[in-house]
Amino acid sequence: MTIGILGGGQLGYMLALAGYPLGLHFRFLDPSPEAPVGRIAQRVTADYTDEAALEKFSNGLELVTYEFENVPVEAANFLAERVPVLPPPPALEAAQDRLNEKHLFQKLGIPTTEFAAVSSPREFDAAVKSIGLPAILKTCRLGYDGKGQWILKTAEDVARAKNELPKVPLVLEGFVPFTRELSALAIRSRSGETALYPLVENHHRGGILRLSLAPAPRLDPAIQRAAEDAARRILESLNYAGVLAIEFFECNGRLLANEMAPRVHNSGHWTIEGAITSQFENHLRAVLGLPLGSTGPTGHSAMLNLIGDLPDSAEVLAVPDAHLHLYGKSPRPGRKLGHLTLRAASPERLALRLSELPAFFHRPDFCLDAVLSHSVSHPA
Ligand code: AMP
Repeated sequence: MTIGILGGGQLGYMLALAGYPLGLHFRFLDPSPEAPVGRIAQRVTADYTDEAALEKFSNGLELVTYEFENVPVEAANFLAERVPVLPPPPALEAAQDRLNEKHLFQKLGIPTTEFAAVSSPREFDAAVKSIGLPAILKTCRLGYDGKGQWILKTAEDVARAKNELPKVPLVLEGFVPFTRELSALAIRSRSGETALYPLVENHHRGGILRLSLAPAPRLDPAIQRAAEDAARRILESLNYAGVLAIEFFECNGRLLANEMAPRVHNSGHWTIEGAITSQFENHLRAVLGLPLGSTGPTGHSAMLNLIGDLPDSAEVLAVPDAHLHLYGKSPRPGRKLGHLTLRAASPERLALRLSELPAFFHRPDFCLDAVLSHSVSHPA
């Protein structure tokens, strides 16, 4: 049975690795001849708009899924006329546009950040007036990892942004003074079964995820329930199948939804070693309509993204229960090259293990201070 995957980056790579034990085969479509999956699976190198290539790609596939949410909806719809495409293309459409996403959250009664659409300087003025400062201006589409965003703190920032307003649909959001960022990895199978991993605490630098802690430490069970409730509403409303990631801000003891991604997610990489069933395997089970695997954690995990450069593998692997994943990409500043997951029996042990990591990981961009400031002096 061959599964088609749109996008051939590390998420696709890890999907394939999770699918091989289930006897699955994979075919990828990616415009880049450098896509990492080329090492382990069939790859079609073509643009997503190339209908002849899409036609050829879809031949004989059981279904098509995606690891990249900016696949043109037209490509997903074209394929959906030939073979099942899951998660369903409307989920892709909802998640590709920040305004659509916010309207969906609102419609489903899920608290979200204050926002206003901006498509002209006049609307921008009105939005700033109604939302106030500080605020964040974001492009509605194609923004990720903090790209396409401007933080507005002062009247000068507003004046500058107004002068340089990009000619694309924008959204102005109120700046949320959050205590932390949490993400939910929710799953719905084609059969309707749903499941949720424990919430994850995420730390970003420069808009890019650096560190995830799972399960999120010191979590109020009411917050986990609120996330579950929000996730279920979204999954049902979209008749979803697959993994859905939802990013939240925790603020004054409540959750505000920020955005969602209709795919496996960087903040779920810890599940490979840190949960009974990984997000990658569960995504495949879900789109195939197979029973979902347990989302229970196997300990306390920390996932560190390796961005731009790599540590010495031998030094990292000398740390007990450290798991290194390298994506086979050539180093470049800002590029996600791999990740490291550390797992321990208790949060205190995990903090101790993190403190023992080689010097490479004690640079500020790994955000370890966020964990280590909570004391490592009394390991359980
Ligand atoms: P996003 O692309 O929406 O995930 O934004 C990237 C990062 O910018 C988030 O992970 C937050 O750290 C920060 N951010 C985005 N929107 C807001 C907001 N409304 N208030 C405060 N911080 C935000």
